[in-house]
Amino acid sequence: SQPAKRPQIKQLDEVAVNRIAAGEVVERPASAVKELIENALDAGATRIELCVKDGGKTLIRVTDDGHGIPAQDLPLALSRHATSKIDGTDLLNIHTFGFRGEALPSMAAVGRMTITSRIAGQDAAQIVVDGGAMGAVTPAALTKGTVVELRNLFYATPARLKFLRTDRAEMGAIADVVKKLAMAEPYVGFTIRDLSRDDKGRVTFRADAQSGDMFDALSGRLRSILGAEFADNALAIDAERDGVTLTGYAALPTYSRGNSISQFLFVNGRPVRDKLLVGALRGAYSDFLSRDRHPVVALFLELEPTKVDVNVHPAKAEVRFRDPGTARGLIVSALKHALADAGHRASTTVAS
Ligand code: ADP
Ligand code: MG
Repeated sequence: SQPAKRPQIKQLDEVAVNRIAAGEVVERPASAVKELIENALDAGATRIELCVKDGGKTLIRVTDDGHGIPAQDLPLALSRHATSKIDGTDLLNIHTFGFRGEALPSMAAVGRMTITSRIAGQDAAQIVVDGGAMGAVTPAALTKGTVVELRNLFYATPARLKFLRTDRAEMGAIADVVKKLAMAEPYVGFTIRDLSRDDKGRVTFRADAQSGDMFDALSGRLRSILGAEFADNALAIDAERDGVTLTGYAALPTYSRGNSISQFLFVNGRPVRDKLLVGALRGAYSDFLSRDRHPVVALFLELEPTKVDVNVHPAKAEVRFRDPGTARGLIVSALKHALADAGHRASTTVAS
């Protein structure tokens, strides 16, 4: 038989590299929305509008009033591993949502991206990247902030396109992402507009910027996202242990759910899905709820960035605690106390 032909080792070009990376960073329209809104928040935006067409498959556009990108930096913002958020020396001390410098080039590799931006004291500028091919920076019209538009997501990667769900399901996932970030940022106003029917669009979600102290702002925001019934049945949580704080709202056992999708947990302002924290919640409510019932909560853990590793995966919501015991213990004891104070005895026969 013929000996197997040995293939040559070749360096992949940047377009191919970005397209492969996009598979990690942007799984579906909702992940692109997450990256774009996080960028707007990192830029200090106070108002963010998201426009979506056909579940994000045709169009995702995020408009913010943040500090903008300098015209001369637009090509850099679209380059791989280019970021204004860290200098690479202290990966354990991250205070922004982003830091990898991967999102924009990845998204631009699997769609057509237009960025229009304006910083104070400069004219607005624009750049277009189509399937990874970057155009020149051109003058544009914009009063403030940044508009990032992503069209025809995944048209260059048909395999990925095929795995997307219905427009309705993708829109649902997008709304979930926005709601979580809106809970984490109550002082920022959020709007989602669905442009599927016409270009004027239909507002499908609105959360006005809140004011007042942290608890006022958060309860106002939770009222608009989780509803008045949650807000009226929630206990304010405010606890601290060994430099870790836990704040937010946790619903009374009488306001429980049959699934855990209404458990909103945040670590240092980031929405997370973490087994340890979910387990702690279960432990906290174990005297008050039967095993098939789940508490509704929006809880925020804050700890020194050096004590938690958020650098686990670009798109996944996992975190790694240096001292998991403290986080767990704090959640269990703070919630147990609050629930006991509220006068609710251990029960396994709580109605929904
Ligand atoms: P990262 O967020 O990890 O830095 P991105 O690829 O998401 O990487 O963005 C690259 C850079 O582009 C950011 O570091 C930031 O400087 C700039 N940028 C992106 N989006 C915005 C925005 N909406 N407003 C201001 N600057 C932005
Ligand atoms: Mg980013």
